[in-house]
Amino acid sequence: MSAICKRKIVIMGAGMSGMLVAIRLLAAGITDFDILEKADSAGGTWRENTYPGLACDVPGYLYTYSFEPNPECSHRYARGDEIQAYFLRVFNQYQLHRHTRFGQEILSASHADGVWNITTRTGAQWQADILISAVGVLHHPNVPDLPGLDSFQGTAFHSARWNHAVPVDGKRVAVIGTGSTAVQIVSGLVDRVAELKLFQRTAQWVLPAFDTEYSDWSKEILRRIPGLTKWLHNRYSDVYHGILSGGFGRERVLFINAFRMMAERHLNSVRDPKLRRRLTPDYRFGCKRFILSDRFYEAMQQPQTQLVTDGIERIEPGGIRTSDGTLHEVDVIVLATGFKAQNYVRPIQLTGTNGITLEQAWADGVKAYKTVAIPGFPNFFMLQGPHSPIGNFSLIKIAEMQCDYLMQVIQRICSGDIRELAPKNAATDDYNRELRAAAQNTIWMDPGCQSWYIDTRGNLTIWPWSIGRFADIMKEPQLADYEIAR
Ligand code: NAP
Repeated sequence: MSAICKRKIVIMGAGMSGMLVAIRLLAAGITDFDILEKADSAGGTWRENTYPGLACDVPGYLYTYSFEPNPECSHRYARGDEIQAYFLRVFNQYQLHRHTRFGQEILSASHADGVWNITTRTGAQWQADILISAVGVLHHPNVPDLPGLDSFQGTAFHSARWNHAVPVDGKRVAVIGTGSTAVQIVSGLVDRVAELKLFQRTAQWVLPAFDTEYSDWSKEILRRIPGLTKWLHNRYSDVYHGILSGGFGRERVLFINAFRMMAERHLNSVRDPKLRRRLTPDYRFGCKRFILSDRFYEAMQQPQTQLVTDGIERIEPGGIRTSDGTLHEVDVIVLATGFKAQNYVRPIQLTGTNGITLEQAWADGVKAYKTVAIPGFPNFFMLQGPHSPIGNFSLIKIAEMQCDYLMQVIQRICSGDIRELAPKNAATDDYNRELRAAAQNTIWMDPGCQSWYIDTRGNLTIWPWSIGRFADIMKEPQLADYEIAR
C-alpha cells in the first residue's frame, strides 16, 4: 500500500478517462490502484472503433491531455489510428501496464462494510475502498431490431465492430444511419466501393470542417519545441471552447443562426436540387450534435452513391427492402446506428448501501450529483456520468475537470480525514431539479428534437448550461452536500 494513501482504489476501464485518473493518482504519489480493463489493450473507444474514415471532429492539437501534447497529428482532425497510437504512447510513457489488469471485464461491484467487492467475468475478485467508473459514454452499440437481419446472406456489422476480414473494395455497401459515424464512413468508403447506399431516416446539419494536412516539417518543428504544441492546444481550446462555451440555450438565436447559415451554404455545394432537398434537415440547427465534414456532400454526389430515404421495412437474404417495395441488393450492411448512450456504468451490476442496485436507484431515470457521484453509493465516482457536457466539446477537457474534482475528494479519503462519503439525497434532488428546469430552455428539447442526448422518458441527459458553469462546479467539492463518515 502506498505510503501516501491508506486506501485501495480500483478504476473501471483503461480508456482515455481511466488512464487520466491513473496518471493523476501517480502524480499525487498514490500507487495502490488497479485498472480493470475488459479488453486486451488500452484506448477505449479508439481501440474499438476502426472504421474507414475514422477521425475525431475535435481538432487534433486540442483532443489531447492538456499535459501531454501531441505533435504527431497528420491533419487538423487527427485520424483514428493516430489517436489510438497517442493513447498507447501515453499509456507506455506512464507505465500504466504496471497497474492494468487486462481481460478483466467487471460484472458486478457491491458495497458492504465499507468496501467495494468487485467480480470480473474470469471469476476473479477485487476489493477496493474507492471505486471509479471510467467506462466511457458511447460504448455499447445500439443494434436496431430490424426484421430479418439474421437472414442476410452478406455480412452485417455495427460501425464499432468493423469486420476487417470482410472485403469492401469493389462491393455493394449499405450504410444505415446519418450520424457523425455514418458521415465519416461514407466519406472513407466512397472511393473504394462499387455502390454505396446511405439509408437516411433523418437528414443532418453538416458544417464544413476546414480540414488540412500538416507537413512533415511542421510536425518536426513541433517535436523539437514541445512548448509550441502545448501553446497550440491552449489556443485551440480558447477558440473552440470559446465558440461553444455558451451552450445551446434557445435564447442564443444569433449563435445558432450563424451556424445554420454556414451549414446551409455548405449544403448548397450539392448541385442537384432534388438531392439537396432530401439532404435538408427539417429541424433547427443544433437540435442534434452537429456534424463536421468536408467530404460528405461531395461523396453523396458521386455516381456510385445513392441516398435512400424510404423507410427500411426488413432485411432479406439479398439486401434491404424499403417501404416503397424496392429491394436494395448489397453485399455488406454497416449499422452506423449509434450507441446506448444512457447505459453509463450499466450493464455492470452496481449495488450500494442497503442492497440498493443502480437499476433501482435509476428506476425513474438516470440521476447523479454533479455528474460524478450517486447517493447511496459511497466512495463511488464517475467520469462522464449523467449530464456531463459531452456534446461537441473535447471529452478530454471535461474528463480533466471531473478528475481534478475527484482528486480533491480522493486526497481527503486517502489521508484518512474521511472514511467514506456519498452525496446527500437532498443536495442531489435540488441539483437535478435545477438541471431539469434548465434543460427545458435548451434547443435539444425543442418539440420533435430527437437525439441520443434525450432518454426514453424524454429527459435531457447532458449538461444544459454553459461550460463555464461546469468549470465552476468542478473547482472544489462542496463537502456539505455529502454524507460523510469519518
Ligand atoms: P448517432 O449520432 O446516434 O446516429 C445514429 C444514426 O442511426 C442516426 O442517423 C439514426 O437516425 C440512425 N438510426 C438509428 N436506429 C435506426 C434504425 N432502426 N433505422 C434507421 N436508422 C437508424 O450515432 P453515431 O453516428 O455513431 O454518433 C454517436 C456519437 O458518437 C456522436 O454524436 C459523437 O458524439 C460520437 N462520435 C464522434 C465522432 C468524432 O469525430 N468526435 C465520430 C463519430 C462519432 P435518427 O437520427 O433518425 O435517429
